[in-house]
Amino acid sequence: MVTTSTVPFPDVSPSPRVEGFLSRTKKLLIGGRWVDAAGGKAFPVYNPATGQIIDMAAEGDVADIDHAVRAARKVFDNPRHPWRTMSPSERGRLIWRIGDLILEHKDELAELESLDNGKPVEVAKAADVPLSADLFHYMAGWATKLEGNTIPISVLYAPGAQFHAFTTREPIGVVGQIIPWNFPLLMAAWKLGPLLATGNCAILKPAEQTPLTALRLGEILQEAGLPEGVVNIVTGYGETAGAALAAHEGVDKVAFTGSTELGRLIVKAAAGNLKKVTRELGGKSPNIIFKDTPDLQQAIAGAASAIFFNHGQCCCAGSRLYVEKAVYEDVVQGITAAARDIKLGPGLAAGTQMGPLVSQEQLDRVTGFMDAGRREGACVLTGGGRVGERGYFVAPTLLTGTGPQMSVVKEEIFGPVVVADSFEDTTEIIARSNDTPYGLAAGVWTRDIAKAHRVAEELRAGTVWVNCYNIVDSALPFGGYKQSGWGREMGHEVLSQYTHTKAVCIGL
Ligand code: NAP
Ligand code: MG
Repeated sequence: MVTTSTVPFPDVSPSPRVEGFLSRTKKLLIGGRWVDAAGGKAFPVYNPATGQIIDMAAEGDVADIDHAVRAARKVFDNPRHPWRTMSPSERGRLIWRIGDLILEHKDELAELESLDNGKPVEVAKAADVPLSADLFHYMAGWATKLEGNTIPISVLYAPGAQFHAFTTREPIGVVGQIIPWNFPLLMAAWKLGPLLATGNCAILKPAEQTPLTALRLGEILQEAGLPEGVVNIVTGYGETAGAALAAHEGVDKVAFTGSTELGRLIVKAAAGNLKKVTRELGGKSPNIIFKDTPDLQQAIAGAASAIFFNHGQCCCAGSRLYVEKAVYEDVVQGITAAARDIKLGPGLAAGTQMGPLVSQEQLDRVTGFMDAGRREGACVLTGGGRVGERGYFVAPTLLTGTGPQMSVVKEEIFGPVVVADSFEDTTEIIARSNDTPYGLAAGVWTRDIAKAHRVAEELRAGTVWVNCYNIVDSALPFGGYKQSGWGREMGHEVLSQYTHTKAVCIGL
């Protein structure tokens, strides 16, 4: 493994407010109360900038998941429970309050996220936290708009009979929500926003690497006045707590975001009671720059940010860069320069543009791919290894001279590593872009509007960005084709995944 730089990054202390939160004993939120894990165990929470333990989180396990499911069922199965009888308008106002409280605690949440996940605090302040608040604000409006239809029916075998037929939208019930560590607060918001708008109950299991903002969010939900037991939060390991949640017979649906590999396990675990499953999984997204891109410098900056934003730990990262031959050298040089300009450092340090990866495991995984690329014959134009000896830093990396069979081209690396290649023919590059089991996102850079439409249509991906990248919005549905997922997050499309449609037919 290559290690560049041995100069240690500075230690940065969190603010007294965040120190205060860290000093409190972490518990599970079940039935409106903060409780210890039944087994009394706790697991370490690390600062990825130093590798040091900054906190301990309660290690929820099978018994705690069962406890949480029973708490949620007690709410959902009681038609007279205040959550079940709450008017849509009141539910909307409550969800809006959650968004407001997130903004009120923006600095604290951003700092916690940065400390736990490693991302720059300024990024968390500009993206993660406001986007999380916006998701709740957006979903608040939907609480009052979950309408059904009245449907004129003919019923051929009952001539002359009259019916009044209509549909209603009902919550699915108790939902297990399992989320990853790359945008911990935002992924919790993507899950909880639509769940609350549609009147369901949740057991949320954050990733073991990043439990802190979910726990702080639990306090915010209480402060907003959410009735006890509607949202339960169980921290713990995936193999124990996560697996128990996915398999639990008392759970009506599991909503999972994580790797494609685990997505398969979730489907198997859910088979026992055939609970509903939605999944947002991995990606290996192509980003295609044509020589007629409106502004080459903008395309270069966009392609660099497509892979280096959030240290490449984005499911939709533009990790396969395809550039039309005439501008290939310019783009590759531009990305190399952009990668070298990125200022690495602890998330909390002023001026940091890229923090550490989230964990030792990710550091090993990403540097393992860098080494595999080198072994398989790729050329490392910049980066290619760990930075420093403390914390989980890696250098933004550009690989060229890659072939379609190389692991760095085929597999999701989930780090700041992009593979670049050139092309000459549009039909060929669409085929190469689609030659992957994934289908989450894609980028296209061209000023030719007809080509943009054609390529956008032919790419097998849930999102296609033209002359931009990584644009997500609460109103825009997000999700994958092929092995990148089932279902959509955000927009009004997500609401159908948290509701049943009931058809009611009244004989007149
Ligand atoms: P992961 O390893 O798949 O873990 C995701 C969650 O599943 C974590 O909470 C994990 O718990 C839990 N888990 C682990 N084993 C489990 C089991 N046997 N049963 C039930 N749950 C289990 O994913 P990650 O490494 O956190 O995140 C990276 C992946 O997420 C990437 O593949 C990325 O593309 C994908 N992602 C997709 C989207 C999207 O919208 N499509 C968004 C973000 C991320 P522990 O961590 O506690 O073990
Ligand atoms: Mg951590």
